[in-house]
Amino acid sequence: MVKIGLTGGIGSGKSYVAGLLAQLGIPVYDSDANARRLTVSDSGIVAGLNGLLGADVVSDGVLDRRMLADYLFSDPDHARRVNAIVHPRVLSDFEEWAERCEGSAFCVFESAILFETGFNRHMDVAVCVDAPLDVRIRRCMERDGMPEHKVLERIASQMDQSGKCSLADFVIVNDGERDLQPQILELLEYCKKIS
Ligand code: ADP
Repeated sequence: MVKIGLTGGIGSGKSYVAGLLAQLGIPVYDSDANARRLTVSDSGIVAGLNGLLGADVVSDGVLDRRMLADYLFSDPDHARRVNAIVHPRVLSDFEEWAERCEGSAFCVFESAILFETGFNRHMDVAVCVDAPLDVRIRRCMERDGMPEHKVLERIASQMDQSGKCSLADFVIVNDGERDLQPQILELLEYCKKIS
């Protein structure tokens, strides 16, 4: 099975493209949703986070978001420590999930931080969904009801979009003009060739 890592900056349409792949019957693992699920349900993560913060940041399956946010903002190194607890477990959960998708020629790991985490090293193909900045801003404003300056803040906090595209094996242009279907078919052909 070819493991496709799918990424893109906020508003690029990464989830939209993941949805199109899912419509073709390709299993999609949403790493963000699964990280949130595992953070409150996985005993290793819960014990790790509670040990790290020295208090019950997860209790009875509920995450104290304020406590975690305070910890993350109090030291730039704290995000790395939290990630070191959560990310390996997300990866192993994905690997277990992928094994259960046997019979499928491809599966997709959707992650906004594919390269930042190094998750790309565990994929066969890294794909970046790209869109012009103005299109991304408009989409986020419409989707999230966020003002433009907030969207720009979010974009500035992420890895540069052109950097993501240059690290990717395959780029899907989702500028609202180029048709996505042929690009997706081309991607799957590319994946078949490398498998
Ligand atoms: P990301 O996951 O990259 O942040 P989304 O996939 O959620 O972005 O896309 C942002 C918004 O733009 C969503 O509301 C989505 O439905 C819409 N969108 C993205 N690409 C397209 C497209 N090609 N056609 C129509 N709507 C799109």
